[in-house]
Amino acid sequence: MVQVFNSRVLRISRMTSDVVAVRLYVPADFEFKAGQYLSLSVINSEGKKIRRPFSISNPPQKRNKFIEFCCKLVPGGLASEYIRKLKADDEVELFGPAGRFLVRDYTKDIALIASGVGIAPFMSMIPDVLSHNSKSKVILIKSSRAEKDILYEKELETLEKEHPNFRFYNVFSMPKNRNSNKGYVQDFLRYIPHDFNGDFYVCGLKEMIISVKEKLVSMGFKEEQIFYEKFD
Ligand SMILES: Cc1cc2nc3c(=O)[nH]c(=O)nc-3n(C[C@H](O)[C@H](O)[C@H](O)COP(=O)(O)OP(=O)(O)OC[C@H]3O[C@@H](n4cnc5c(N)ncnc54)[C@H](O)[C@@H]3O)c2cc1C
Repeated sequence: MVQVFNSRVLRISRMTSDVVAVRLYVPADFEFKAGQYLSLSVINSEGKKIRRPFSISNPPQKRNKFIEFCCKLVPGGLASEYIRKLKADDEVELFGPAGRFLVRDYTKDIALIASGVGIAPFMSMIPDVLSHNSKSKVILIKSSRAEKDILYEKELETLEKEHPNFRFYNVFSMPKNRNSNKGYVQDFLRYIPHDFNGDFYVCGLKEMIISVKEKLVSMGFKEEQIFYEKFD
């Protein structure tokens, strides 16, 4: 049920130089679907309440008493500056859960394509899909600026070891290591098998989503197979 409620910060952890994980308390009966978001209330300089959506980055499990966000701190951004100052025990107002960026069919193969913090809803969807279905292929292509900006590497490696049907690939726009994949996610769609017949989920900024959609269509995939969540 969509609702406005107060929550408490349980933990803030730095993930990279400009990304933090925010863990927030939710009651044990709080329910959401993988891929949904909650909006965080922030007061702007005119004293007006503004809401900024953040994808829930942990999977829905009945007895979870927390949800997590993976937040990029944009310099000077209203919500970013608010989050930068948050600390454990602070109270925040949330609104949700909401959003229709949900797994359409748990029996199909899925390819997930993310840039930067666009990985957030996929950290909820991937464990959720893998726990429902051990046969469908799950492929993730994710981009970061450089190796130091990689998000969730350990968690994804663990999932890859536990689930032979899951593979993930890192792509870097500015790699330090010359053997790393250099480019944008749309340059690495070759990791998707030619006979792939499942659904695509794309998350990140608008420009990347448009480019990925165009490339997938030019590769012969249908628009109806492509679902996306724009962060800007
Ligand atoms: C459905 C949905 C889910 C979202 N989930 C997440 C999430 O999980 N994690 C997350 O970090 N954000 C997420 N966002 C984006 C988030 O809601 C804010 O837009 C973002 O945090 C910037 O808000 P701000 O108030 O700090 O910046 P603003 O004050 O709104 O903007 C400041 C400037 O930063 C630019 N900007 C905004 N976002 C970015 C970015 N990612 N990279 C570079 N420049 C940017 C804006 O264009 C603007 O020029 C989501 C957005 C939507 C619509």
